[in-house]
Amino acid sequence: MARTGKDYLEALRKAPPSLWYKGERVEDPTTHPVFRGAAQTMARLYDLQHDPQYKEVLTYEEDGHRYGTSFLVPRTKEELRKRGLAYKVWADQHLGMMGRSPDYLNAVVMAYAASAEYFGEFAENVRAYYRYLRDNDLATTHALTNPQVNRAKPPSGQPDPYIPVGLVRQTEKGIVVRGARMTATFPLAEELLVFPSTLLKEGPGSEKYAVAFAVPTNAPGLHFICREGLAGDSPFDHPLSSRLEEMDALVVFDDVFVPWERVFILGDVEKCNNAYARTGALHHMAHQVVVLKTAKTEAFLGVAALLAEGIGADQYGHVQEKIAEIIVYLEAMRAFWTRAEEMARPNEYGLLVPDRGAIDGARNLYPRLYPRIREILQQIGASGLITLPSEKDFQGPLRPYLEKFLQGATLSARERVALFRLAWDMTLSGFGARQELYERFFFGDPVRMYQTLYGVYDKEPYKERIRAFLRPLLEAVPALEEA
Ligand SMILES: Cc1cc2nc3c(=O)[nH]c(=O)nc-3n(C[C@H](O)[C@H](O)[C@H](O)COP(=O)(O)OP(=O)(O)OC[C@H]3O[C@@H](n4cnc5c(N)ncnc54)[C@H](O)[C@@H]3O)c2cc1C
Repeated sequence: MARTGKDYLEALRKAPPSLWYKGERVEDPTTHPVFRGAAQTMARLYDLQHDPQYKEVLTYEEDGHRYGTSFLVPRTKEELRKRGLAYKVWADQHLGMMGRSPDYLNAVVMAYAASAEYFGEFAENVRAYYRYLRDNDLATTHALTNPQVNRAKPPSGQPDPYIPVGLVRQTEKGIVVRGARMTATFPLAEELLVFPSTLLKEGPGSEKYAVAFAVPTNAPGLHFICREGLAGDSPFDHPLSSRLEEMDALVVFDDVFVPWERVFILGDVEKCNNAYARTGALHHMAHQVVVLKTAKTEAFLGVAALLAEGIGADQYGHVQEKIAEIIVYLEAMRAFWTRAEEMARPNEYGLLVPDRGAIDGARNLYPRLYPRIREILQQIGASGLITLPSEKDFQGPLRPYLEKFLQGATLSARERVALFRLAWDMTLSGFGARQELYERFFFGDPVRMYQTLYGVYDKEPYKERIRAFLRPLLEAVPALEEA
């Protein structure tokens, strides 16, 4: 059932994930300076489910209980639209800057469960896992890619067979896995989903890497080794990182035991490679993504327009042109979002899935748009993005200078610095830089995603149209054998 922020924080305190930060185990992430901001933000998202203003859209009723809308199995377009609106409410809270709000992976597990027959003998495990997540409203992260080590070789060609996560043994009660996954964002989750990233192309030899399962983030033998934190402590100085530092971590599986009821695929390379697309998980997670990216682009538009007005640069044609460029990108994302819902169709299991063309367009385009959007903010903000005194300077004796020299055309110094600090955190701080890397890669390697699109896209109708167009023209030049 839809839970509150207090429920989440208490659960995190009582059973913290195995988080390692700078060589030490994090005992309580809810109070740790690097992790507490994101934990609090996550708690606020859960709280909104009980806010009278948002309750209707963020939750739905089934069998007398209210659950989070991202667990709703859509059978109608209205239900699909409701899912989209719920994504947007949460995304607006964090300006689209938090990749692992729970709705992202809830969408995946919902699609797996609705298409559970795909998992054959493990179908009931998938259904039961969905009910477990839904009933307890848990936060989940995932880890899909193997450590980089040597990308010229397949998983079985690495210096140690257990660098990628692989099956060690099966027991009566479950399986034991060993190895690592390269990255999991938001290790403050309670559950970890482990599916391969669809690229087990080598065939024979990769069966032991063809495993899909879920474990609690505090499972014995599981370790999240975190990168350096990006969270600033003052919300005025670090408006985003102080609240939205999700963290990314290497995930180590040191002989982790997974009970049978948590195993979803075992030894079946084909099933691993096709799980996302065939079940509709791909479509539904990308649906959440297109809404999130709409919210993020709206945030950039708002900041860009305020920056320009704030320093009187909005009167210049080239500044207007740059802001209009963001508007065009925003409208493109909105168009993808609408089309994803309006052209949705049931998949082979009866689950309504957002339109593949729209979601492929959005998820392939945004990694290319985002660096440009970030660049535009830098081009408009210029030195204002770096000449940024801190909260403490405003409390110190030199404040009169700040009030005089850092005022804007339409803003007081205090308002102007707060706005420019936000723009700095979006574009230039460690947090802002990581956002760009995230946008480039979080859905997969953009190069191989384009290659996949080339492979799956039906180009035949367009080739045939061109052949038909050329056919009468060719009559003017007979083929050699006819001449
Ligand atoms: C900030 C951030 C957060 C992330 N969060 C998560 C998360 O929560 N969960 C998760 O599972 N993953 C996460 N990821 C990982 C993401 O899925 C990967 O970055 C993405 O799939 C690319 O894989 P890679 O990083 O291993 O790059 P690599 O595969 O190592 O690629 C490195 C370079 O080599 C090229 N290359 C490598 N192999 C090939 C090939 N076979 N053919 C052509 N070119 C190749 C690539 O094009 C690229 O230029 C995150 C990544 C980032 C940056």
